[in-house]
Amino acid sequence: METKKRIYIGLLAASLLLEMSLAFMICYVIVNRDIIISQIMLITVAVLLAIVFLILGIGILAIVIMIIKSRSIPSLEKLTLWANELLFPITLFIGRLLGVEKEKILKSFISVNNYIVASKRILPGEKILMLLPHCLQNSDCPFKITIDINNCKNCGKCPIGQLRELADKYNAVLKVATGGTLARKWIEEVRPLAVIAVACERDLASGIHDTGGLPVVGVLNSRPNGPCFNTNVCLEQVDQAFRTIIQGG
Ligand code: SF4
Repeated sequence: METKKRIYIGLLAASLLLEMSLAFMICYVIVNRDIIISQIMLITVAVLLAIVFLILGIGILAIVIMIIKSRSIPSLEKLTLWANELLFPITLFIGRLLGVEKEKILKSFISVNNYIVASKRILPGEKILMLLPHCLQNSDCPFKITIDINNCKNCGKCPIGQLRELADKYNAVLKVATGGTLARKWIEEVRPLAVIAVACERDLASGIHDTGGLPVVGVLNSRPNGPCFNTNVCLEQVDQAFRTIIQGG
């Protein structure tokens, strides 16, 4: 079996083992309620669960306070990150159970994220990366803008040229990515202090998760020709994203 597959299968087996051990512990404690070791196990599990819930609770509360006050709480940023990471798949699952469209949940997640980023206030002059999806480029354009954005001739057939002017206006680095791998590569290479990312709901939500703590303001693209083909973006919204990052919400 390939190493890649072995890692995943190994982790799957380990998580199954963990779940089985937990189930065994719970059964053991229920059956042997009076034995002292059961009581110790019960208290241990209860304390661990209480810690996890406390972390998640404080994290969610911090997110709400940050949104209301439009100000970051640096000491709680890690907790908000953990709460987001842990609860995100659960919120999607509960949303699906309640019949809420996934796109709506992702949109809501992106706007909460944008609020939190707005409360951080990046200083003017700090390095900002503007990441654009390749599908914004006109499909008939012969120029390779993923290699070098300066290959764009600003012919007006797609929004890339104007977005380049916007990046220049705010002294930002502009990169075009064909997918998550190239986006991650650009982030590693540029090492920005903040990112303005244009993409669809799914790519933005997963991109915000992938960057783990790096402030990312997400701007949704419009898809008048269907997904991933000659898409567009509102320039005013991108400009607003820059102002949000530089001046704070
Ligand atoms: S604006 Fe730039 S990227 Fe868009 S079609 Fe014209 S040359 Fe190509």
